Amino acid sequence: MKKTALITGISGQDGAYLAQFLLKKNYRVIGADRRSARDNKWRLRYLNIENKIEIVNIDLTEITSLISLFEKYKFNEVYNLAAQSFVGTSFVNPITTSQATAIGPLNILEVIKNLKQKPKFYQASSSEMFGDVKNNFQNELSNFNPQSPYAISKVFAHHITKNYRDSYKIFAVNGILFNHESPLRGEEFITRKITLGLSKIIVGKLNFLEVGNIYAKRDWGFAGDYVEAMWKMLQQKRPEDYVIATGKTYNIKSFINTATKILGMKTKWVGKDLNERLINLTNKKIIIKINKKFFRPAEVNYLKGNYSKAKKELRWRPKTSLKELIKMMLKSDLENHNK
Ligand code: NDP
Ligand code: GDP
Repeated sequence: MKKTALITGISGQDGAYLAQFLLKKNYRVIGADRRSARDNKWRLRYLNIENKIEIVNIDLTEITSLISLFEKYKFNEVYNLAAQSFVGTSFVNPITTSQATAIGPLNILEVIKNLKQKPKFYQASSSEMFGDVKNNFQNELSNFNPQSPYAISKVFAHHITKNYRDSYKIFAVNGILFNHESPLRGEEFITRKITLGLSKIIVGKLNFLEVGNIYAKRDWGFAGDYVEAMWKMLQQKRPEDYVIATGKTYNIKSFINTATKILGMKTKWVGKDLNERLINLTNKKIIIKINKKFFRPAEVNYLKGNYSKAKKELRWRPKTSLKELIKMMLKSDLENHNK
């Protein structure tokens, strides 16, 4: 029997990769998308799957539309990927962030709770929940110390998912995913901002790029590898939470250095603090500057995930190195700008 899956956040990075993955597994994929005046199907087109998905217009903050949706379809699996997912914006719009990112999943769980045949539920938890970390590695048992309205909303969603699992026997899991990137990553996130910015500089469409704190460290993986783990979590005998990461961490400066090296640029960092900048040695021009505007009111300085549990129980491991990921992102951005 063909399984039916609901993916919320279908227009986002992970929504696109997960839909592609589930279609290959012969699922019927229903993608929930809030109505938008802008074209937000470009990721589905990039993967050539736009016509293979049934799109339904749902805003997660409207429980009545969720009730009708679950009456209409019998879902086997529900992947809640929708969220206001950008930390920077969560400081500017904390209320709408918490409505989508915290109350959104609660709305879905409330609807599932009242169904006779309950679908399995996946919640997109985040390493940002660990926040100001105290340990070298973070795993499923590490404390949460969230540093932004986004991360605090994710902590709520994480706990409410566990609570509904324990209270109402819903097969509900939290995938605690560390940062994952791809050519489809939103342009405001630092990795894509760098690969897009450098690609524009190379073809002469941009003079320099401005960034914030280049000393923050992240554990970056490839989104295409991570969606497989989401699916695997829902195929287990028992619902449990899992950390998905690479186990390696690098700062933003080193991401930039790898990217410029791949591009064959000769560069040098000069100056300190807000005056630090990256110079292109070939033409002596500044290509990266620091701008205070991109610093956050509270920062997460360091993240490194321990994915041992996922390795053992899900038989999952990351397949793409950071260098391969950066190459993939640069290639895609350069192709776009050379069109
Ligand atoms: P994106 O920001 O690319 O996608 C988020 C999606 O949520 C978009 O489709 C957006 O729609 C949708 N959305 C936002 N608000 C609402 C709402 N009120 N109702 C319905 N849909 C809404 O995120 P990613 O694909 O990168 O991430 C997927 C999930 O995983 C998110 O929940 C994110 O927080 C989480 N996560 C991501 C990590 C990462 O590194 N990528 C790490 C850990 C967790 P629209 O196009 O209309 O804006
Ligand atoms: P996050 O881990 O979900 O916040 O992912 P981001 O890609 O948005 O940010 C990762 C890290 O990069 C954070 O520590 C940011 O402070 C840092 N950073 C430095 N400069 C920038 C910038 O210009 N944009 C963004 N988005 N992040 C930046």
